[in-house]
Amino acid sequence: MKITEHIKKADGKTLFSFEIIPPKKGNNINDLYNNIDPLMEFNPPFIDVTTSREEYVYIDKGNGLLDRKITRMRPGTVGICAAIKHKYDVDTVPHVLCGGFTKEETEYVLVDCHYLGIDNVMALRGDAMSHQKYFTPNQGGNHYATDLVKQISDLNCGKYLHDVIESTNKADFCIGVAGYPEKHLEAPSLQTDLKRLKEKVDAGADYVVTQMFFDNQKYFAFVEAAKKAGINVPIIPGIKPIAVKRHLQLLPQVFKIDLPETLISSVENCKTNKDVRQVGIEWAIQQSKELLAAGVPVLHYYSMGKSDNVHAIASELF
Ligand code: FAD
Repeated sequence: MKITEHIKKADGKTLFSFEIIPPKKGNNINDLYNNIDPLMEFNPPFIDVTTSREEYVYIDKGNGLLDRKITRMRPGTVGICAAIKHKYDVDTVPHVLCGGFTKEETEYVLVDCHYLGIDNVMALRGDAMSHQKYFTPNQGGNHYATDLVKQISDLNCGKYLHDVIESTNKADFCIGVAGYPEKHLEAPSLQTDLKRLKEKVDAGADYVVTQMFFDNQKYFAFVEAAKKAGINVPIIPGIKPIAVKRHLQLLPQVFKIDLPETLISSVENCKTNKDVRQVGIEWAIQQSKELLAAGVPVLHYYSMGKSDNVHAIASELF
């Protein structure tokens, strides 16, 4: 079932959902299940599964030289979506990236999703690879998320690449895209970024999930500005509980987001990362309570594969 249908069916009640990352290749899927199991008591109607970009690894050739290989460390997004969907009877949302894929490869991913009965996909550009300064699409790949949304929308109309077939069985994907309450790090201004978001919606996006934020006023202002810009699809807030002290430097640096002073000092006062995790839980509970009271459609948590903190938060709310 589509995310938009889940929201409609909930009739104003806020839903609970979360995002997981595939395990590093070579690991067992049971670790993932062990983290999902406790969260199922909160009846998530859908679970997102991220896609990681390829990266370079350097293999010692033993003669003083290094061999550079390109690899994907966390493959398996669509397979994991299928496994979770069938194990828990829940909708899953694979993240589909522009970066690292040709349009043909993207089409094959979407065809797999269609055969597997996956009704939703999250369309994202992806980031630059670690050695790159700027994002560069693959030759023959989509450049911006809008281009990817257009490709998925075309598929929904039975239009495949290269017009080589006539479809008798159209896909009907519900398409999610990313939104940035504190603007995307490359965007010159929030207003420009909102214009780009509107382009994604005009191209066929059905809902938006936000980047993490720690000050709800940023989300409320973003939703207001988006409405003014003519964006009328659900905007789902993404919540990340701070889990380690290093997040104080890492999150602003990687995502160009602000952390409130009170949160920073609470984390700085912690003696151990166990204490930090507790501060992160309490902050996320307060954030979630206010968002719940404001009637957001879904509270969507970035679990990063470890569910104990998301479980503690959801226990207070759902
Ligand atoms: P876009 O919407 O394409 O925007 C990227 C930048 O380009 C923005 O600054 C925008 O303003 C600008 N722009 C857009 N269109 C144009 C245009 N036509 N001309 C000029 N500028 C333009 N990353 C992963 O690798 N895997 C994941 O699974 C993943 N999941 C995510 C889930 C969520 C909810 C969010 C918020 C992010 C996720 N990301 C993920 C990170 C995401 O890939 C990065 O934030 C990426 O840098 C931007 O992706 P986007 O889809 O927002 O890009």
